[in-house]
Amino acid sequence: MQTDDDTEQVVSTGSLPGWDRVEQLVQDAHARYRDLADGTVADYIPELAAADPAWFGVCVAESGGGLHLAGDAEVPFTIQSISKAFVYALVCEALGHRPVLDRVGVNNTGLPFNSVIAVELNDGHPMNPMVNAGAIATTALLPGGTPAGRWEHLTRGLDAFAGRRLEVDDVVYRSEAATNQRNRAIARLLESYGRIEADPLAVVDLYTRQCALRVTARDLAVMGATLADGGVNPLTGERVVSAQVCRDTLAVLASTGMYERSGEWLFEIGLPAKSGVAGGIVAVAPGKGAIGTFSPPLDPAGNSVRGQRATAHLSRSLGLNVFASSVHVTERAGAGR
Ligand code: GLU
Repeated sequence: MQTDDDTEQVVSTGSLPGWDRVEQLVQDAHARYRDLADGTVADYIPELAAADPAWFGVCVAESGGGLHLAGDAEVPFTIQSISKAFVYALVCEALGHRPVLDRVGVNNTGLPFNSVIAVELNDGHPMNPMVNAGAIATTALLPGGTPAGRWEHLTRGLDAFAGRRLEVDDVVYRSEAATNQRNRAIARLLESYGRIEADPLAVVDLYTRQCALRVTARDLAVMGATLADGGVNPLTGERVVSAQVCRDTLAVLASTGMYERSGEWLFEIGLPAKSGVAGGIVAVAPGKGAIGTFSPPLDPAGNSVRGQRATAHLSRSLGLNVFASSVHVTERAGAGR
């Protein structure tokens, strides 16, 4: 992936810079990439092709509750694969670390998000919750007993992450439901390996609905900031999940959140993140906040082109890379002895 090396690399292990500085950098990130014309709008779900390629929104949510918005940060779009991260967190919260680890796993497949071969190669194991097999297996684990009960648990949880009520985009839902034969095949395959106990087609229907929930870049930033804030929504003060669940979720995002480019993303940007085919990306800086971006044109791996560039720019200029450190001056004083 392409990032700009001319952005000064700030190192920060503590908090975000002051309000004005963050505000200015968010506006800069938007202005800098607004006219970038690379990438292609997804069309494998027919209705997604109707998106305006010019849409571009950026939002930083601070873990203290501050919000910084630029461009189309309040334009709604479907959350798609980004829902996988938050549904995974809800299922971990309900079932605990070990059972979800055993059932779904955390290792990268190295194969596309909707790969059937990945399931076959791994003895029917879904491998991780960010590929479709693992996401479908995760949705099947939601508490609630019936499809309606699971949906209730899911929407209550995602609403709490966002701090507002999220609605389903019915047109996108129906468009995907009519064309998701592959996801139905994956669910049947998981069933054949005994990896899901619920009715596989009902689970795919729930998964398709969760992908069609409408969010904005602002929502993504708030949802991410909840993961950055030990599980407490910084706007509403509501505890959504535990701090341990946030840690587990962010670890999974770091290794698998950006499709087959997850390694490259972590190397260049140094933040756990998740993207979706409608053009959203959420990137989380633990303890500090989160960046939500939205822009429909995608690179060949399925990640938003402008969103990646803006997030890279903000990670560098805000000092968010979790692997960056600087010399600890007081320790050094005694180091020569
Ligand atoms: N609903 C989409 C699918 O399962 C999600 C794709 C994505 O955002 O990666 O195909």
